[in-house]
Amino acid sequence: MTTKAQSYLTHFRNIGIAAHIDAGKTTTTERILFFTGRNRNIGEVHDGAATMDWMEQERERGITITAAATTAKWTRSGTDDEYVVNIIDTPGHVDFTIEVERSMRVLDGAVAVFDSSQGVEPQSETVWRQADRYGVPRIAFSNKMDKTGASFDLVVNDIRERLGAIPAPVQYPMGQENEFRGIIDIIRMQSHTFTNDLGTEITVGDVPEEYMGKVREMRQQLIEAAAEVDEDLMLMYLEGEEPSPEQLVAAIRKGTIEKRIFPVLCGSSLKNKGVQLLLDAVIDYLPSPLEVPAIRGTAEDGETVIEYPADPEGKLAALAFKIMADPYVGRLTFVRIYSGTLQSGSYVYNASKEKRERVGRLLKMHANSREEVTELKAGELGAVIGLKDAGTGNTLIGDGDDRVLLESIDVPEPVIKL
Ligand code: GDP
Repeated sequence: MTTKAQSYLTHFRNIGIAAHIDAGKTTTTERILFFTGRNRNIGEVHDGAATMDWMEQERERGITITAAATTAKWTRSGTDDEYVVNIIDTPGHVDFTIEVERSMRVLDGAVAVFDSSQGVEPQSETVWRQADRYGVPRIAFSNKMDKTGASFDLVVNDIRERLGAIPAPVQYPMGQENEFRGIIDIIRMQSHTFTNDLGTEITVGDVPEEYMGKVREMRQQLIEAAAEVDEDLMLMYLEGEEPSPEQLVAAIRKGTIEKRIFPVLCGSSLKNKGVQLLLDAVIDYLPSPLEVPAIRGTAEDGETVIEYPADPEGKLAALAFKIMADPYVGRLTFVRIYSGTLQSGSYVYNASKEKRERVGRLLKMHANSREEVTELKAGELGAVIGLKDAGTGNTLIGDGDDRVLLESIDVPEPVIKL
């Protein structure tokens, strides 16, 4: 049961973008921030082109635009529903495996980016297995559809054969390589044709005749895969009834959250193509903090297990997952709040270090601005200024609460200079 206090969480998605180096993680993340910023007109920037310029400038100056956790907002296309999408940075390099694993702990779902000209590469397999270990539901993005050698079918087949997972292709590309010009939404049987170079204008229409046979066949396979994970859909299927797009989305969402199937999408992040549909899919298929198992902690006796459901009115339970040194404000401790509410100026207990610590200011990091807030609630991520002792993997609980350690990977890590 979701209480009134928890209801905001249905509109939260805490995601990571996971990929083999070079598959396009950075570009995809930038484009997500571009489209979400454009969607919301963050800060002083009022049109998309300016946001893009700003990103290019930042890039030239060598500044990483993604913080350990960046908060964006996205209105699901075709609705007025606004969602908070927190993007958690997952290091892509294999040397940072422990960091990848630590970041897996604080996200609820992931977008696995593949280079569609390469299919599933050995390193993408490593990242995929880590997500498996942490039980992270994910959708796959077959990127670089514009590139020579791009093949959506290759990615779909590799997911099945090399990763041993059940792909659920919810899209099909119209054209590949130089000819990539649009995306067919198999669920709704619609085509999305890109009509400008920025990828910002899309014409929605019918499925072109030439794709009809292929797409119908794929839709049938999708229904069969979804019916395997959803009883209602199975009943409809057995009776020969056609599910509505909403019913099909609901069944695929269920299968995705249960990690039984993996929606596959396509696009070209370099050309801005398919990124808005990818954001819609994040909303449609990846879980809210209420739909993932509650984080657990171990009490002082080393045995008693305590669960912390995502509830802003529950006891405070937060995990520090990244420390950064900021030239202006000093030490920034990125935290995910699982339960309760963290207040600026309050005291918390660092259960890992067995120390009481004072919380200074609290920040939410956006793509091109920082927002100072007075509290961070269950399900939220942000940065704390002022914690002196907290290290990565440390558990923060309420001052005066019984000592509990959250499950995490506790590995020392040097402070990274911005
Ligand atoms: P990361 O290492 O996974 O973060 O990958 P990057 O985002 O830095 O991209 C690696 C290279 O692939 C860069 O040269 C990008 O410009 C290029 N790239 C990224 N996305 C696309 C795409 O959709 N199409 C093409 N053709 N190149 C892309």
